[in-house]
Amino acid sequence: MNLEHLLSKEEIQIRDSIREFTKKEIIPRTKELEADYGLVEEVHQKLVDMKVQSDGYPSEYGGGDGSNTAFAIIAEELAKGDAGIALTVGINMGIILKPAMLVKNKAVMDKFIPAFCSGKLTYACISMTDEAGGADSENPCLAGSGITATATLEGDEYVINGSKAWPTHAGIAECYLTVCTTDPNAGDEGVALIYVPKDTPGLTFGEPEKKMLCKTSINGAVYYDNVRVPKEFRVAGPGMDANIYHFFEGGTGWHSSAIALGIAERAFEIVLDYTGTRMGGFKPVRQHSMVAGILADMAIALDMMRASVYNLSYMLDHLDIYGPPWSPQFISKAAATRTFAGDKAVEIVNKGAELLGSMAISEDFPFEKCLRDAKITQLWLGGQQICRYRVIRGYYDLKNWA
Ligand SMILES: Cc1cc2nc3c(=O)[nH]c(=O)nc-3n(C[C@H](O)[C@H](O)[C@H](O)COP(=O)(O)OP(=O)(O)OC[C@H]3O[C@@H](n4cnc5c(N)ncnc54)[C@H](O)[C@@H]3O)c2cc1C
Repeated sequence: MNLEHLLSKEEIQIRDSIREFTKKEIIPRTKELEADYGLVEEVHQKLVDMKVQSDGYPSEYGGGDGSNTAFAIIAEELAKGDAGIALTVGINMGIILKPAMLVKNKAVMDKFIPAFCSGKLTYACISMTDEAGGADSENPCLAGSGITATATLEGDEYVINGSKAWPTHAGIAECYLTVCTTDPNAGDEGVALIYVPKDTPGLTFGEPEKKMLCKTSINGAVYYDNVRVPKEFRVAGPGMDANIYHFFEGGTGWHSSAIALGIAERAFEIVLDYTGTRMGGFKPVRQHSMVAGILADMAIALDMMRASVYNLSYMLDHLDIYGPPWSPQFISKAAATRTFAGDKAVEIVNKGAELLGSMAISEDFPFEKCLRDAKITQLWLGGQQICRYRVIRGYYDLKNWA
């Protein structure tokens, strides 16, 4: 029972084709993919050929005008195979250009979108987490005062200085949506979101991070040393950039939740299968009532996650009903979905591991990957604590205590 009433015919077709793709191209070779980025790029190019990358962009640029619901479906289905691949696909299919698309910044759209609709694998990057502390640069209660990367307007250009840690696709992206401040004392009025093209002088990168999860996506530091970009590459301007930034941090929780859902669904599937044949106490493990209760809790959590993710996707697709997505109430809703999905995904993989015994951590069995990948859904975008601040700010004005 997969919320079919919320999905269009096209969205159901997308779900079925990406599900098939994941089963065929990703699940049978997750180990090889984690070890060889060349293979990962082959998988991405096949998805680009299926028009997944261009789907998130407007049709006037050759894109597919895809819905946010389709976006979530793709993330969920790919994450059943590999969270890193799901992450890369989401980033490249429009998340990073969404701020420019929301305010219809034509200079940015004309410059960057065509490459993503060209049929060639093209990477984007959100360069947000300051090296000095990601939680500070992503904490909405600090209203921009925790951002350390700076942007100074000189003539017709912004000059950017600072350093970021961990952005996905650092060093391989065509464009870097950079979070900076024009004045940390100006609060949200100082927040500036500026697109930086690759190859801009002064833009350099660190070595790829070595990590235990999302091994199929690349992370690294991004350094800005007097990086100059045309002032038109700023998303909107004082005030509106902050609105969009808070929405971005909260709203992309919808993508994180869909990834959490996919990982948890795969974990449940593996546990259900294994406990159906593994014998204990002279019967299949899942025939014990203690085990059935745990499996039931996993199924309940999955059902609630699914309902919450697709409800939020529907809301994003119907801003005519729900108003601007940067309202504290909208951000709160998105953050609630992400916080819940991340916590439940980790709970599900941990409980599932108990039911698998030693096989949970065997490198020759698919479950250990779920154990590893699930954790990221609590860590990024400021982590679960900052995410909870976003939730509660929908109910009252949680003060800036910096
Ligand atoms: C796989 C992966 C992909 C990523 N992709 C990107 C990306 O594309 N772009 C990007 O910019 N970044 C990215 N990141 C970085 C990620 O978003 C940050 O790591 C995260 O936001 C936390 O920042 P930090 O590690 O500097 O945590 P810190 O700032 O060091 O904070 C550590 C912890 O302290 C606690 N904390 C801090 N301040 C407070 C407070 N005020 N109240 C309560 N608790 C607090 C929180 O628990 C927080 O999680 C990625 C990271 C990973 C691992």
